[in-house]
This record gives sequence, C-alpha cells and structure tokens, in this order.
Amino acid sequence: MKPVAFWIEQERIDDELIPCLTVILKTRGCWWSKERGCYMCGFKRDTSESVKAEDIIAQIEHAVNNAEKFEMVKIFTSGSFFDSREVPEWVRKQIYGIFSGNIKRLTVESRPEFIRDEILNEIQDDFEVEVAFGLESASDTVRDININKGFSFSDYIRAVETVRNYGFRVKTYLLLKPPLLTEGKALKDVIESARIIKDVTDTISLNICNVQKDTVLEKLWYDGLYRPPWLWTAIEALITISNMDIHVISDPVGGGKRRGPHNCFKCDGEVIKAIREFSLLQDINILEDVRNTCHCYFLWEKVLDLEDIAGVPLVE
Ligand code: SF4
Ligand SMILES: [Zn+2]
Repeated sequence: MKPVAFWIEQERIDDELIPCLTVILKTRGCWWSKERGCYMCGFKRDTSESVKAEDIIAQIEHAVNNAEKFEMVKIFTSGSFFDSREVPEWVRKQIYGIFSGNIKRLTVESRPEFIRDEILNEIQDDFEVEVAFGLESASDTVRDININKGFSFSDYIRAVETVRNYGFRVKTYLLLKPPLLTEGKALKDVIESARIIKDVTDTISLNICNVQKDTVLEKLWYDGLYRPPWLWTAIEALITISNMDIHVISDPVGGGKRRGPHNCFKCDGEVIKAIREFSLLQDINILEDVRNTCHCYFLWEKVLDLEDIAGVPLVE
C-alpha cells in the first residue's frame, strides 16, 4: 500500500537546513473524528477502516525506498501516531527501528490522551523526537465551542510535561480563525494563545484555517457564515508571535484559493511566498517587507474594525 502522500522538503534544525521526508500515512483514522470530530477537520477522507498493521509498514517502506536522501522524518497519520488502534505498538517499534541511526529527528502528531509513559518508553533510539499537538487555542471556550476539540488545556499541559520528561521536543499547532470568530477576535485569540504557551512549546505552527470537504465548517462557509482568514491576519500573527522570541512557522495550505486563506487573490502569491520563506529562515524582515504591499491591506484593516462592530464575520 502507498501512503496518502510523501515528499522531501527543507527543514530547519539548530540553524541548519536539512532535507526532511514527510509521510502522510493512511490509517484507520482519528478516534475523535469518529465520535464527534473537530468542526474544520476533513482528515477522515484520508482514512480507511480496512487498513491493516502490515499496510502501515508497507507505506513507510514505499516512502523510504522512493525518496531522495533525507535527515529528518515527519509522520502524519490524520490522527494520533500513539493511538495503538491507528498504529499498533509493534508497528511503531518497527518504524523506530527503520529510522534508528539514520536520521536526526522524528516528528509525530498525537492527541494528548495517548501520551503515557509506557508509550514514550518504547522509543530508545538515537534520533531526537518531536511530538506535535493540535491545541488550536489556549482558550478552553474557543477550543470547546468553536472547534469541538474534545480535550482541555490542562490535558495538553499534562501531555507536554510528560513529553518533556523524556527530553523530547514539543510542537504546538494554533488554529488561525476557527469558525464563528471574527477576523479580529481570531487574531487576538491566536496571539494570546501563543503568549500563554510560549514557555512550554519549542515551536508554534500557525495552522491557517482552510475549508475542507464534508465538514461543519464547509456548511458554514456555504451559508456565508465563514470566510477563510486573510493572509494579512497571518502576517500580523506571525510578526507578533515571532517578536515573543519563539520559533514560529506556518504553511498556508490552500492559500490563494477561495477555500483557503486569501487576500484579494492578486497579492496572495507574494504573501504566501513570504510566509514560507520566513518559516524556513526565521527572518522577520521577510514579513515586514511584504506587509501592506497591496491596496487590499486597507480593506483588511476595515474588516477588522467593522466585523467587531457587526459581531459577525463579513464574507467576500
Ligand atoms: S483531533 Fe485532529 S484528526 Fe482528530 S478530528 Fe480533530 S483535527 Fe481531526
Ligand atoms: Zn491584495
């Protein structure tokens, strides 16, 4: 079986750019998406109940055998790598063995409830481990009401502390513009969230929301109740968070499309390029230089004011 996708890209480790293999595995999927699910999550489209444990190994081997040289690996499962229903224990151990001695860092994603000593103890290898959590917001209200995430901030902190006890790194995703927040409130929420977690996470990954198929968010979007975030909002958030002296990155997935983060569509390409370059080089001048370079910046400033007066998101 082939993975959903795999590719090589440059990643930054300790001021050095190295080639990184990213693999998106098809698994049985996130248990929470089967129960209730997060409003913006369309990952279940990449999952299948029929995936067997051996299929997961086959996907990893396919990616490794067909990729060029790499020194870091990111494994995404559209769920939780440490949930044994998705990736059984013996499969996880085999995966660690495949990369042991060959890479500098392995990044995996997990919901906090799967972070337990016996799971982390399985990793006895020489590579650095990074565990990524989709916290989305430090506000329990936003995470609960606007996202339906199904875990609390204290669940996240407990998991982070456990991961840190093993000397592993922590990456945290913050969601820019969950449903039913105005552009201005979304910006404030993400900045406040960064301020709260900056001392417990090594990296913040700004997840700029896009409208995925078959989601609650898609229904709101069709009804004119959601507009994907402006790229100017992302620029503002990245500048402010970077000034907190934290490693912050972002990849505007779906950027420049109606379903993805966008400005006026004319300047989107340049702004997206700046966000990607900044994420790699961590040079804040790249963001400052692109800020306010299009007439639509003025419109975006008006949206920030007017939406908060109107109390509802303004659409296109
Ligand atoms: S926890 Fe992650 S994978 Fe699961 S439903 Fe939420 S966003 Fe999707
Ligand atoms: Zn523009």
